[in-house]
Amino acid sequence: IFISFEGSDGAGKTTVLNSLLPLLKQRTNQEVIVSREPGGSPISEKIRKIILSIHDQEMDNRTEALLYAAARRQHLIDVILPALKSDKIMISDRFVDSSIAYQGGGRQIGVKEVAEINDFAINGTMPDLTIYFDVTPEVGLARIRKDHEDTMDRLEQEKIDFHQRVHDTYQKLIEENPNRIVTVNAEQTPEKVVADALDAIIKRFPK
Ligand code: C5P
Ligand code: MG
Repeated sequence: IFISFEGSDGAGKTTVLNSLLPLLKQRTNQEVIVSREPGGSPISEKIRKIILSIHDQEMDNRTEALLYAAARRQHLIDVILPALKSDKIMISDRFVDSSIAYQGGGRQIGVKEVAEINDFAINGTMPDLTIYFDVTPEVGLARIRKDHEDTMDRLEQEKIDFHQRVHDTYQKLIEENPNRIVTVNAEQTPEKVVADALDAIIKRFPK
């Protein structure tokens, strides 16, 4: 079983994943492999470092998209496919939808363009279930910079617009993939978010 977790920045999916993991193991009695993108394997983590260490304006958008796709390919080969082959539950913190939302929508490369290079990278392997943790860009960004009380300047406004496009593109993906993607309201209490995510998994894969 291949499950991906998706969401905008500040959705809290990594935190949810940490609390969910023991509950899921208990409920299913199955081995669960958890990993993240960009990253998840030694080469992919190196690519993650390159992408995340470079300031927005320095890297060409398509170069960035190709690096995400390259990291995904290696993660697939090193971690995801072996996990699926041995019948484990594989959970990836982000997968192809992230690229479509962030690079396709956020960076405005285009959904179709980014989907194409990712089709090449994943060569047919898609999650059986995707849980989308939904927060508005305002709430997500507020969570991330809890400590900053500055009023919003122009740069911050651009950030909001970027994250709004990411959010809109996720919404489009959800509409187009109603059977694969389940939305969880990530503005609820952490306990409720974890419970809803667990529910979604159990419902989809009843033992
Ligand atoms: O999910 P995580 O918080 O680890 O993501 C790290 C960063 O990479 C986030 O700031 C996210 O916005 C960014 N990202 C991106 N494009 C992707 C995946 C992640 O810009 N395809
Ligand atoms: Mg995170």
